[in-house]
Amino acid sequence: MPIINYLSTIEFEFGAISGIGSALSDVGIARPMLVTDRGIVAAGLVDQICRKLPKKSLAAVFDQTPSNPTEESVTAGVALYKAHTCDGIIALGGGSSLDLAKIIALMATHPGPLASYSVPENGSAHITDKAAPVVAIPTTAGTGSEVGRAALIAMIDGRKIGFISTHLIPKRAICDPDLTVGLPPYLAAATGMDALAHCIETFLSPAINPPADAIALDGLARALLFIEKATADGNDREARWQMMMASLEGGLAFQKGLGAVHALSHPLGGLRAPILHHGTLNAVFLPAVLRFNAESAAQKFETLRAAMDGDPAQIITELNQRLGLPASLGDMDVPDAIFPEIAEAAAKDHCTATNPRPATAADYRVLLEESF
Ligand SMILES: [Zn+2]
Repeated sequence: MPIINYLSTIEFEFGAISGIGSALSDVGIARPMLVTDRGIVAAGLVDQICRKLPKKSLAAVFDQTPSNPTEESVTAGVALYKAHTCDGIIALGGGSSLDLAKIIALMATHPGPLASYSVPENGSAHITDKAAPVVAIPTTAGTGSEVGRAALIAMIDGRKIGFISTHLIPKRAICDPDLTVGLPPYLAAATGMDALAHCIETFLSPAINPPADAIALDGLARALLFIEKATADGNDREARWQMMMASLEGGLAFQKGLGAVHALSHPLGGLRAPILHHGTLNAVFLPAVLRFNAESAAQKFETLRAAMDGDPAQIITELNQRLGLPASLGDMDVPDAIFPEIAEAAAKDHCTATNPRPATAADYRVLLEESF
C-alpha cells in the first residue's frame, strides 16, 4: 500500500536562521550540539549561528564531519554528545553533516550496533521516536536531507549503507538561501545536479505518490531554469532561493524512492579513496541511466520530455558540459578495476528496488562502462 508522508515544519526565507533560538525551544532542545565540518567553521557560519542563540546555550560543536560520513565519525559524535549531556542537535552544512547528525541523534539514544538499524539488516523498525531531535540548516542547495528520512553512512567494513525512518526526519528545517550565497561554482553545480537527480529519479520511480510526482516536476523546472545562473554568479540571490527550493522539493519528493543513479553513487561515495562527490557522480550517471530506463517508464518519459523540452539524456549531457562538470567516471579518476564490486553493491542498494526497470549487477556493469 502506498504510504504518503509530509511531516516537516520548514522555515524558508532569506535570513531564516535568525529564528534558530525559537526553533530550538519549539522542539524542546535546551543543550544543543552543533554538527558541521571544518569548512563551515572557517567560513564563519558557526559564529553566525552562535550570535543568534542565547548566551552559552551551545553545549558542544562537532566539526569533524568527513566528506562522506563514516561509522567512525558517528562514534566520535555520539561520545561528544554524551560527554556534554546534550539534548538535541543543530545540523549545519551539506548533505554529509545533515546525514551524520541524523545518525548521531539515533545512536545517542539507541543501543548499538549501528548496522542493526540499517536497511540491509531490516533495521528501520527498530528506529523509535526516542531519536534525539534535530534542527537542520542546509548550507548547500542539493541534498534535501533537511526534510528526508534517510541517511547514508560509510561503514568500517567498507559498505555504504542507508538508514531510513520517519523518526530520522529533522523536527525543523531552516532553509536560508543567504547561507548559500557565495558557494563556489563547482559546488553550486554539483550539489544542484544532486537536487535535479532527486527530482528526475523520484518522478520516474514506480511507487504510487502523485503529490510527490508533482513536487518533483516543480523542483525539476526550477533547477533547470536556475542551476546555470546559480553556478555562474555566486551572488545571484534569486538563483540561490530557487535552487534551495528545488533542493527542498527533491527532498520532499524522494520519499517515493530513488533509482539506479543513486544505487550506483552510493557505493562509489563509500570509497575512502578517491573521495567522490555525490552530486557529481549523479550528474555523470544520469544520461546512461535515463537511456536504460526510457522504455520501462514510457508514459513518464513523455511527461519528462515535455518538462525538459527535449531528450532528457541529451539535455543532461549538454547541461553537465555547460556547468563544467566531469563528463565521465574516467575524468573523476575512478578506476574501472572496481566496477565488478561496485555493480554488486549497486544491485543490493535500497534504491534499486524503486528503479523503473529492474537492474541486475550485470546491468550495472554496463551502466558503469557506459559512464566511464
Ligand atoms: Zn542524492
